[in-house]
Amino acid sequence: MTTHWIDGKPWTGTAERRGDVYDPATGSVASTVDFASVDVVDEAVAAASRAWQSWREVSLAARSTVLFKFRELLVANKTELAALITAEHGKVLSDAAGEVQRAIENVEYACGIPQLLKGGFSENASTRVDVYSIQQSLGVVGVISPFNFPAMVPLWFVPNAIACGNTVVLKPSEKDPSAAVFIAELWARAGLPAGVLNVVHGDKVAVDRLLEHRDVKAISFVGSTPIARYVYETGTAAGKRVQALGGAKNHMVVLPDADLDLAADAAVNAGFGSAGERCMAVSVVVAVDPIGDELVAKIAERLPGLSVGDGRKPDSEMGPLVTGAHRDKVTSYVDAGLSEGARLVVDGRQHTIDGDSAGFWLGPTLFDNVEPDMTIYRDEIFGPVLSVLRRPSYDDAVDVVNANPYGNGVAIFTNDGGAARRFQHEVEVGMVGVNVPIPVPVAYYSFGGWKQSLFGDSHAYGPEGVHFYTRSKVVTSRWLDPSHGGINLGFPQNS
Ligand code: NAD
Repeated sequence: MTTHWIDGKPWTGTAERRGDVYDPATGSVASTVDFASVDVVDEAVAAASRAWQSWREVSLAARSTVLFKFRELLVANKTELAALITAEHGKVLSDAAGEVQRAIENVEYACGIPQLLKGGFSENASTRVDVYSIQQSLGVVGVISPFNFPAMVPLWFVPNAIACGNTVVLKPSEKDPSAAVFIAELWARAGLPAGVLNVVHGDKVAVDRLLEHRDVKAISFVGSTPIARYVYETGTAAGKRVQALGGAKNHMVVLPDADLDLAADAAVNAGFGSAGERCMAVSVVVAVDPIGDELVAKIAERLPGLSVGDGRKPDSEMGPLVTGAHRDKVTSYVDAGLSEGARLVVDGRQHTIDGDSAGFWLGPTLFDNVEPDMTIYRDEIFGPVLSVLRRPSYDDAVDVVNANPYGNGVAIFTNDGGAARRFQHEVEVGMVGVNVPIPVPVAYYSFGGWKQSLFGDSHAYGPEGVHFYTRSKVVTSRWLDPSHGGINLGFPQNS
């Protein structure tokens, strides 16, 4: 059973509501998770508010010492954390370890907090008047994360928030809650004082309480677009700073001059890695004439050989979907594609699975001749279903991408540098890959989409993360001497 982590220790109360946590590879209920009531969220926020009074005063040097120690513990416990992710999410172990590695990069970035919080200083802005800026913490920050990266997404936010002097209440996905508690324990072992990081589990009840609580000053959210929009609108209406990252429909444009074998490899890796349950997964390939037939054939020939099975087995390349309900929803899109006239090239329902028949399986599925008005194109499927659209020219391909309401990630495959440069300029998407199918920015840039993939104006982590978790103050100062005397009621001017 998984429970909350409040004020540096596991919660000891009795939950009024609980949720089931599945082992997706066997389809069985592996554990349960306590759901937080309003009172439990209030307890966590109160602990975080108390901790903020002292944590905000802790020196930058002492904060970065905790961060360095946490990084060491994360590296040492990478395998154990990856195993927890695989057990509840289903992704294969190597992929889970990759997720932890990308999380570690964000901790490393936050280790540099003394450098990141340096302000500006202007000596003699006016005669013997100095002006300088300082960045201060906000207070208690709420972090609400999705199921698909149970370690990485919380660690996009928590290290920077804490390094900036805030305290945190994290509400991870109720589908795979263990990783967040494991991470909180590592923070405690790293010397983070009690109450600086709290974890509450649950659903809308917990999220709504964080959104309305007066002592929560900012919200970082990642999840589907309808909930991201709701969180942004509700949180900002309550006077909070909110960054809410939403869903995606990521295109991979393949120009006729591209190496089609490399492009097909990339489409398979980015379309079916983590069973397509990545917000940066490629879900649409846009093949520019005349390469459509050849590219579809190359993608199709790679799919039967993919090993789909229990993520704990070393030779599995793709695991199950996260829940039975999600698998059924994704599978329903195969019927939807067929009934709307797309050509089903590879049917993942027929794939041979190396695992328990009760697991939440769907093999890699490929549709060709997909058009923008079809449901399988319009909806974010979030599973192993890849659609191919054919377009006659580069311009038509870019038009398709730019007309899509999402704008998270996009990639172009080409050997034409001029075309790639034009694409990066014209495409209306926040993260662009040139011959890179999943262009997740490194930790010292920031992560965020455009349009309906992000609500708010701050991207996650990196410099924009530090900006989001601090408010700046500008001080204008002079040390008085007789030359400053005299009466002058005019508006201060520089001299
Ligand atoms: P989700 O929107 O169902 O849940 C996200 C979080 O919101 C969870 O903590 C959940 O408990 C909570 N939640 C769910 N319903 C709620 C409601 N009605 N009111 C308040 N809170 C609610 O998303 P998910 O299924 O866990 O994750 C998959 C989605 O996340 C996909 O759409 C994916 O694209 C998106 N995602 C986006 C990014 C990004 O960076 N843009 C990254 C990862 C995942």
